[in-house]
Amino acid sequence: MCGIIGYVGPQQAAPILVEGLRRLEYRGYDSAGLAIVEGDVHLRRAVGKLRNLDAVLVDKPVTGSLGIGHTRWATHGRPTENNAHPHVVGQVAVVHNGIIENHLALKAELKARGHVFSSETDSEVFAHLIREAQRAGLDLLAAVRASVKQIKGTYALVAISEADPERIICTREAQPMVLGYADGQNFVASDVPALLEHTRDVVFMEDGDVAVVTRAG
Ligand code: GLU
Repeated sequence: MCGIIGYVGPQQAAPILVEGLRRLEYRGYDSAGLAIVEGDVHLRRAVGKLRNLDAVLVDKPVTGSLGIGHTRWATHGRPTENNAHPHVVGQVAVVHNGIIENHLALKAELKARGHVFSSETDSEVFAHLIREAQRAGLDLLAAVRASVKQIKGTYALVAISEADPERIICTREAQPMVLGYADGQNFVASDVPALLEHTRDVVFMEDGDVAVVTRAG
């Protein structure tokens, strides 16, 4: 169960996300990645240490001021780039800490409805469920709410979407998640050290809470 950071504000998100993940390195991890919404969802991932993700970002820089990052400690699926988070399906990107206990059943149902999976993780199920709910007409917040209802297990989940480019949606169940407030920029993270450089104004989410994080609050 590893590191999560999300950012929305006036600054470039990528360096803030990587620095936030660096402050969560003490937890250990096997791969890392980030996704930023700017027009489309832009994904960058790397196996191994954060310096490998740094190298990917030097090679393929990404701009934009709303994004999510993750350091993964694999529970389901090997430590590969495809299994690293974020997981992107269509317009949706998610990061997840925890374990989806009913992922095999959900995956089978989603496959039967035509979904194609690109990782071995349990977490990718979230991205497909949210995408499916969006296609049925729900906005990102409603889609996240509808998706978590189908999940048995533990999660700190953060979702972004190019269809909803001003908001980060996050929720938790038996995994830590903290919100950080600063002037004109706001954060979500799996642990406080990721945020301390930016703010000490933090709120710990409770199980079942859902937060909508925007530039304004
Ligand atoms: N169960 C997820 C995976 O294996 C999340 C692991 C984590 O919490 O880092 O990808």
